[in-house]
Amino acid sequence: MIPLHGWNGRILRVDLTKRKTAAEAYNADFALKFIGGRGFAAKILWDETKPGLDPFSPDSRLVFATGPLTGFSLPSSGKLVVAAKSPLTGGYGDGNIGTLAAVHLRRAGFDALILQGKAEKPSYVTVENEKVEVLDAEGLWGLGAIEAERKLREKHGKDLGILTIGPAGENLVKYATIVSQEGRAGGRPGVGAVMGSKKAKAIVIKGTKNLVAADPNGMRTLGMEGYKDVLAKPNYAFWKRQGTMATIEWSQTNSVLPSFNFREGIFDEAEKIGGTFMETIKTSQKGCPNCNMTCGNVVTDAEKQPSELDYENVAMLGSNIGLGDLKQVAVLNRLADDFGLDTISLGNVIGFAMEASEKKLIMEKVEWGDFHEAKRLVGEIAYRRGIGDLLSKGTKAVAEKLGRDSPKWAMHAKGLEVSGYDCHSAPAMALAYGTCSIGAHHKEAWIISWEVTFGRESYGVEKVDKLIELQRIRGGAFESLTVCRLPWVELGFGLDWYPKLFKAATGVELSWNELYAVGDRIYSLIRAFWVREYGSNWSRAMDQPPQRWFEEPLTKGPFKGATLDRQRYDQMLSSYYERHGWNQRGIPYKATLEKLGLGDVSQQLGKLAP
Ligand code: SF4
Repeated sequence: MIPLHGWNGRILRVDLTKRKTAAEAYNADFALKFIGGRGFAAKILWDETKPGLDPFSPDSRLVFATGPLTGFSLPSSGKLVVAAKSPLTGGYGDGNIGTLAAVHLRRAGFDALILQGKAEKPSYVTVENEKVEVLDAEGLWGLGAIEAERKLREKHGKDLGILTIGPAGENLVKYATIVSQEGRAGGRPGVGAVMGSKKAKAIVIKGTKNLVAADPNGMRTLGMEGYKDVLAKPNYAFWKRQGTMATIEWSQTNSVLPSFNFREGIFDEAEKIGGTFMETIKTSQKGCPNCNMTCGNVVTDAEKQPSELDYENVAMLGSNIGLGDLKQVAVLNRLADDFGLDTISLGNVIGFAMEASEKKLIMEKVEWGDFHEAKRLVGEIAYRRGIGDLLSKGTKAVAEKLGRDSPKWAMHAKGLEVSGYDCHSAPAMALAYGTCSIGAHHKEAWIISWEVTFGRESYGVEKVDKLIELQRIRGGAFESLTVCRLPWVELGFGLDWYPKLFKAATGVELSWNELYAVGDRIYSLIRAFWVREYGSNWSRAMDQPPQRWFEEPLTKGPFKGATLDRQRYDQMLSSYYERHGWNQRGIPYKATLEKLGLGDVSQQLGKLAP
């Protein structure tokens, strides 16, 4: 047993039913096996939730988890992971948020916060170092996330971190998020709705303690050098100007820009929503704490309000719904942030509704690119009014209700809507969506940029190997260290920084191979969670991307006529399973779980584990 440095070694538990709080210690074995963030969250959810639990039950757990680097002064260390059993997918769900709440939670002396139970009436939680209270949220419930945060800041002060939900979370929309700092949001698979089900409007955290690193001088020096290294990167100035928005042009050029509910990979009005145009209406820049490459582009929207744009928001609420006016896209984006709706799922659901309207599967007339109808739908969804009630359940559920051939063009994997890359001609990215541990999201492997460079046509094992490497780095290490992936992805901030920073923080030497092993452990643990939930209904069909990409060719652009090849996709999937030590249904073998130090998980899976 080693002493803990870098980690605080404590988790705060808040039971809203009993109005009780407790600071619970954890040991070095837990820290070293799961690191933090996603690793902690996955293990807590595995240990503390019974299979088949209703995500909206008071017994559900909502976990906010930081990592051992969170809060130290080093590049992009101001994030935390929010996680819960997902009401959208029925499986493991999480997301990360750049927020001062992450830094303050650590400074309050905790590495994670577990919210459980259900408050009798709308409430919010305040944490001020050791003092934890559950307060009445009267006057806050019903407010948008942005206004609620402003009111809380007026009341509790500026130097603290706040996480809130908007009306979508309160109304249990299944893709409601948790929001912070007026536009940073996370928890795509309905984590905000889980918070709403607990009648928790917000969490306000103020921490004033010093974070103690194993090597304080080393930590300071490395952090400063890290910041300088980021500043010196050749792409730095351009990144500061456009952030992820340049990806609109890149995706258009490479025919992967989602357009018209992923029917096409190019959009005729792409220029009008791209990074270059965005620069002409940009007013300021926002970002996460401890980041010197801030990427939130604030523009003035068509209603003269500030809205923070990035690629995903614009692709999903722009080209994917046929809307080619960036200021109008920015209105939809601002409303989504304020309501606490995930912009990616929202863009999918609206695109799906537009296609359903075109095909006369719904009575409403919602035409492609109709800003006013799209705006109306955003409100209807947040408040679950009219057709918004059905649309609030997510694309998979809507398709199941509407029937006919609509499940083929319901763009999701495992029930989570696809994020912003069309995969008609990108098999590795399709596999990344199919196997991502929360459903179809790019955060664990943005393999499309590598795939575009190294060859779109191949379905070879080199793509499977690359995918696993990226998932280990991004979905495993970064999500557990709880650092932003973008310094590495976008500017080439070297991977060698992370073991050095980890050692300075914790005193523990971990090579990248050892970090990979942590990633593998987390992937198999999360996979076990899904299998435990789905039982005998679990099959490799869960790892399939949407049918549209296999069956409906692109009709224009340089990849006109392209579709995915189902047989070859399946071969890649089989190779993926083999490399993980999972059987051909995608279930970890007992021996794999034991090798990864998850013998308890293997035992609990019982007969489900082969
Ligand atoms: S690069 Fe962007 S997302 Fe990452 S920490 Fe900085 S502001 Fe946040």
